[in-house]
Amino acid sequence: MADTIKIFVGARNLEGSTLGQGGPGGAGVSLGVNGFESEWVAAMAAAETASNSVFQRGSQVPIIGNLSDSFTVGSTTANYSLNYGPVVGNLWFDDDTDNADGTDDATRLGNYWHFDHTTAVAVGKIDFYSVALHEILHAMGFGLGNEWTSNVSGTIWLGADSIAANGTGVGLVDVNGAHLATSISSTALEGGAAQDVVSISTGVRKTLTALDLAILTDLNYSAVPEPAHAAVLFGALALGLVGSRRRRE
Ligand SMILES: [Zn+2]
Repeated sequence: MADTIKIFVGARNLEGSTLGQGGPGGAGVSLGVNGFESEWVAAMAAAETASNSVFQRGSQVPIIGNLSDSFTVGSTTANYSLNYGPVVGNLWFDDDTDNADGTDDATRLGNYWHFDHTTAVAVGKIDFYSVALHEILHAMGFGLGNEWTSNVSGTIWLGADSIAANGTGVGLVDVNGAHLATSISSTALEGGAAQDVVSISTGVRKTLTALDLAILTDLNYSAVPEPAHAAVLFGALALGLVGSRRRRE
């Protein structure tokens, strides 16, 4: 479906203090050949064009990964370079919050997670909405993938939109390279209050901020007003794929 990323969601036992995991889909290539060796290079070029037109999903989304190699038929070698964008994503929530190697019952889950996004987060609980939002961003290529990597140099963010939003890209990325640094403040898109960028803290809800949005536009997404609400949607398309890439926490 156009303008959609299909994200598969589940719950499972996640180790230690990991609350959730999310990431974009990965991709693989398998080649089967029949026909004339003399047509091999042209056939590969046509397949490359077709794959990139579908799986890269245009220029308004990040490139998540690239598969490049060559394949030889007889004495003829053809090269390929296949880009893929955010076609699908995955998102997991922890359902073993006491790390007892079993699925928690509803009472224990309810004591740990704050599920109701319409009420303030209870003291000491983890906000389900905030974790979902954080992992959805990972599924969209926030924190991993080629586009993210091309915008990061050490702890410096190189993308122009975020530099403009934050005043500088220096120190914007944490030392592990997959998140923004802790305590980076911005402005909540809904309500306009000062708020840390989307991250996970006990007893606190984090909504999307202007800086999170700037990161997404640096990753090639385009923001458009959602017709019914003063929120934002992100342009993208959807299709199926193989494998998975995951980002913890
Ligand atoms: Zn994370």
